[in-house]
Formats: sequence, structure tokens, C-alpha cells
Amino acid sequence: MIVGQAVIKTIFAQARAGICNSLVIVIVVMRVTCRMYPAALTSNGMSPALDLARTPFIVIWELTQACDLACVHCRASARPQRSPLELSTAEGEDLIRQVRNMGAPVFVLTGGDPLQRPDLFHLVEYGTRLGVRVSLTPSTTPLLTRDALAGLKARGLARLAISIDGADAASHDRFRGVPGAFDRALATVGWAHEVGLPVQINTTMSRHNAHDFDALAALMESLDIVLWSVFFLIPVGRATLRDGLGGEAIELLFEKLYALSLRARFDVKTTEAMHYRRYVAQQRKLTGASRPADRRHPDGIGRAPRGLNDGKGFVFISHLGEVYPSGFMPRSAGNIRREPLAGIYANSPLFVALRDSSRLGGKCGACEFREICGGSRARALAYTGDPLAADPACIYEPAGWVEGAA
Ligand code: SF4
Repeated sequence: MIVGQAVIKTIFAQARAGICNSLVIVIVVMRVTCRMYPAALTSNGMSPALDLARTPFIVIWELTQACDLACVHCRASARPQRSPLELSTAEGEDLIRQVRNMGAPVFVLTGGDPLQRPDLFHLVEYGTRLGVRVSLTPSTTPLLTRDALAGLKARGLARLAISIDGADAASHDRFRGVPGAFDRALATVGWAHEVGLPVQINTTMSRHNAHDFDALAALMESLDIVLWSVFFLIPVGRATLRDGLGGEAIELLFEKLYALSLRARFDVKTTEAMHYRRYVAQQRKLTGASRPADRRHPDGIGRAPRGLNDGKGFVFISHLGEVYPSGFMPRSAGNIRREPLAGIYANSPLFVALRDSSRLGGKCGACEFREICGGSRARALAYTGDPLAADPACIYEPAGWVEGAA
């Protein structure tokens, strides 16, 4: 990216000196931009139409499962020590090259705590130089300092995502299992602004904090963020079946979330609650409201394409190289140590089945919203053992659907 900016500056300087005409400028700038951002945004701020059968919108790499926090609902069941079997730096570089070649618009480095790996800074810079837009979800531990953020920003990091699960120190620290985590999360947001990093907040809603939604929303509105990503807990890792929310409770949160989305200065999205899209479509039909204009973010990361789901525009690579449809769906479709990511994503029976809405079971298979929603495949797997079963946390009854009918 730095090289690209230098080229553009040189061309404009030449233009001012009369060396290069404006048509050449436009052509060269377009070529440089396309090389830097193979999936740059369209004019309306949306990501361009992707063929989700071949190109994921988002690739997430779990750099490590090591972490100094002890979150009660940790997806990864993170532990203090790194595994000697983690993907190496060279294997990570190879993965980044594959992500670049696939043209995925968003690449996220996650953990565990990615800062537990000393090669994190190198990997961010490596990806940036290849034109991959890199985001990071670090843990709020003493490793996360203002200097670390400045270093990551200097190496091209595009966005920082911080987890906040409680509206105050008492509730958040109880989730994280470490006193001071809430204060550090807020300090991190301030440091990110100081060094010029756009901030996304991730919040996992569960039966432990659903009652606190209004206070959490107020906290988000007090922070200068680009996106509030609200996860709906899936019982994997340290989370249990009892921690998840039922359909009625989720529907109440959808109502609040939708109201917030109409007034907030930041975008709102859900993770593992694909039926929020059904709720939004229903509200727009009821009220005649149209979709608000998409916001343009300084990091160039646009909204996800319609119908994104586990394995359908979404792919997760574990610290051992296993390829999952999402981090909440620990069912491997292959390993990048044995075969290329693109082949696993496009051709593995698991990913192919997940992208085929005609194979959905139960009421999801009969639902008119299945193309834009499809239900959480991770929740279906966690609660029923069948990744194609109906999402058990959706209250919608499709027209003509009869429970128990063939
Ligand atoms: S029934 Fe399934 S596809 Fe339809 S809205 Fe609910 S979760 Fe989505």
C-alpha cells in the first residue's frame, strides 16, 4: 500500500509538471488501486458482488489459542501456553498469499490472543504489502499497549476489533475472568483513536448479559466506533447449552438492535443470528422504510454481501491449519497443510452443502427468507448435531410450515 501511494504521488507530481496527462493518471491509479484492493468497494459503499461459491468475503485465521484471559464463554477454550503445532510464520505467509489470490475482501487475525505471537507485526506488514486488508482481534491484556497499536498501525493494520461483553467493569471483568479488563478495553479504544485505527466492538450476547442490552448500547453510542458486531452465543468451547439465548429473547434484542441501527452513527451487525436479516426485512415491509445508505469507513471495509453464513462467504482457519465453516463450527473440511484453502472452500462436501439452501432441513428449508438468512448453521450443529437442521433459536413460522410434517 505504501508503494502504491508513492506511485500515485509521483504520477500527480508528473502531471503538475505536464509530463503525464489525466487519462494516464486515471488508468494507472485504477490499476494500482485494483492491485492493492482486489475487492475494493463499489460506489455505494457495498462490497462488490462476490461469487461466494469460490470467494469468501471474510477469512479468519486463529493465530494461536494462547491467551492470558479466561473468558467464561471462550470459543477456543484458550489456555496460557502456545501449541508447538501452530502454523509457522512461513505457513502463515503462504496462507496470506492464498487469501490474496482468492480476492477475499477481509482477513482477520484472531486467537486466543494474537499478540502472544512475536511474528504478529511481521504478518500484518506482510499481508498489507500484498494488498490484503488486515484486521485484528487482540485480547485486552498488558500485551496490548499504545505502542503495540502504533506499531501495528505503522505496518498497515486496517481495523481493530475489541471485545466488550459488559456495560461496566464488574460485569465485563466477570466474563473475562481478569480484573481490569474493562478499563483496558476502554483505554485501548482511546489509544486506537490516537494512532488512527478504526475500532469495531464485538459483544457476545448470552443469558448472562441480555438484560444489560440497553446499557451496552448506551456505552457503544458513547464511543467513537465504526461497527458494533453483536454475537449471539453458540455453545462451543467453554460455553454451554445453558448459556445461549432462546428465540423469544433473541427477538426482543433484534427489536432493540434495529431501533439502535436507525439512530446510531456506527453500523450494527449480528454474528450467528442470521435471522436478524429476516427481522429487518419484515420491519422494512411493515414500515415501508428503505435500507439506509451504507456508511463509508476509513478502512474501506464495507458491509457483507447478502446471505453470508457459515461456509458461505465465511471461512475460519484454526491454529493447526484446520478449515472450518466458522470459528463456532469446529467441523473440519480439510487442512491447509495438505491442500490449498481455495480447493477446500470451493469443493469440500461440507462447504458445498452449507451453501446449498435447498438442503436445509426443518423450517429453514421451507422458509422464504432462507436465501438471505438460512439460520445459524453453527447453532444447528451445536444443538442438534446436524449442520443443515433448522436454527433452533428462530421463532419465525414460515407460511404453510407444519412442525413434524415431512
Ligand atoms: S426459519 Fe430459518 S431461514 Fe427462516 S428466518 Fe428463521 S432461521 Fe432464517
